[in-house]
Amino acid sequence: MAVTFRLTEEQREIRALAREFALGEIRPHAAGWDARRGLGPEVFSKLAELGFLGMRIPEAFGGLGLDLKTYLLVLEELAWGDASVALAVAIHSGPVGHLLLRYGTEEQQGRYLPRLAAGEILGAFALSEAGAGSDARALETLARRDGGGWVLQGSKKWVTNGDLGGLVLVFARREDGEGMSAFLLEGGTPGWEVGKREVTMGLAASETVEVELTGVRLGADALLGEEGMGFTYALEALDVGRVGIGALALGIARAAFEHARNYSRERIQFGRALADFQATRFKLADMSARITAARALIHEAASALEPEGDGASSMGEPDPESPSPGALAAMAKLTASEAAVWIADEAVQIFGGYGYMRDYPVEKLLRDAKGMEISEGTSEIMRLVMARDVFREDET
Ligand SMILES: Cc1cc2nc3c(=O)[nH]c(=O)nc-3n(C[C@H](O)[C@H](O)[C@H](O)COP(=O)(O)OP(=O)(O)OC[C@H]3O[C@@H](n4cnc5c(N)ncnc54)[C@H](O)[C@@H]3O)c2cc1C
Repeated sequence: MAVTFRLTEEQREIRALAREFALGEIRPHAAGWDARRGLGPEVFSKLAELGFLGMRIPEAFGGLGLDLKTYLLVLEELAWGDASVALAVAIHSGPVGHLLLRYGTEEQQGRYLPRLAAGEILGAFALSEAGAGSDARALETLARRDGGGWVLQGSKKWVTNGDLGGLVLVFARREDGEGMSAFLLEGGTPGWEVGKREVTMGLAASETVEVELTGVRLGADALLGEEGMGFTYALEALDVGRVGIGALALGIARAAFEHARNYSRERIQFGRALADFQATRFKLADMSARITAARALIHEAASALEPEGDGASSMGEPDPESPSPGALAAMAKLTASEAAVWIADEAVQIFGGYGYMRDYPVEKLLRDAKGMEISEGTSEIMRLVMARDVFREDET
């Protein structure tokens, strides 16, 4: 597919590296990982070798120090290879790395960032609970002060990378019900008990687990940033996380589009290739438009969230009439994830009966795409965020 977006030489090179990696080291294994419901550990060592587990971590801590847009280009390629791999990388790099960099003490950054960048530990994000998904503020996990430290008690749901032995950012509230805080918890800490591994519809190789926190004792140095600021931090992390999910959706959409286009050239019915039927050509034209629209929004949201990155500031001042950065992130995720589901669905249709079979790659893409409309905030929550921005003047 021709690329019409402006990229620097460095961005082109990193994207080419990610594409080569996805083609050679991810794609050949994707169906096997999906069937086995797990990623091979070797994929993480290879990702670490290329620096892809430290993309957003500054070079001083052993990372690549990539700007947001370049990072998103890599995520798209990884998801084009396999969305479960890309989701593991996005959760590891997005919320966890981002908040550590923004609010971690020097000591916390020195302790964890080099290990995260080297892939010695993987990051996880434990916000959701059985009764608190879209309404994360309703979470019930408690953080009780204990001497100089803390004791955490509660249950978490759907923790991606939760059992991969890493660093988990856990959100909990005080006993009096006030103030949510964020804590850095190392995998293997006594009382962090990984329970059921979910059997998911798609993203089957991604690890999604339930966790019980049965009196986890943490030192005072486990608190991230200020006490009571956890919800604000979670929202900030989700803005960055959502453009990441948008990039994953884009990778899935592009993969489905390419499979459908190639198949439509090969499959002959009524003496002609499917690609000769206007009905098929229009589907592919719409796919291409929706991919391009999603990519434009993802790049726009990245520039808004990180105006100093990628020379974005040299493109002029942000337009005050533009949606807020958070609303743009929501638009990018919504547009890309709905495009991915629609495109993967149409790709299955173009493949006909073969598309419905596990022997062909497109049914997996449809299952994976659906997860993009739910994780890190559902499509309805994206619309809620966008609607709030539409009426923001009424609230001031
Ligand atoms: C693959 C996957 C990985 C995940 N990984 C993580 C992770 O690593 N860490 C983590 O903390 N969580 C994770 N999650 C959880 C995810 O963030 C939640 O599933 C999501 O936020 C929705 O919450 P819920 O499932 O409780 O749905 P609910 O909040 O119960 O929503 C159910 C339905 O009601 C709609 N709805 C809810 N409120 C409103 C409203 N106000 N207006 C209109 N509609 C509404 C929703 O859009 C949805 O359609 C993951 C989920 C998935 C699927």
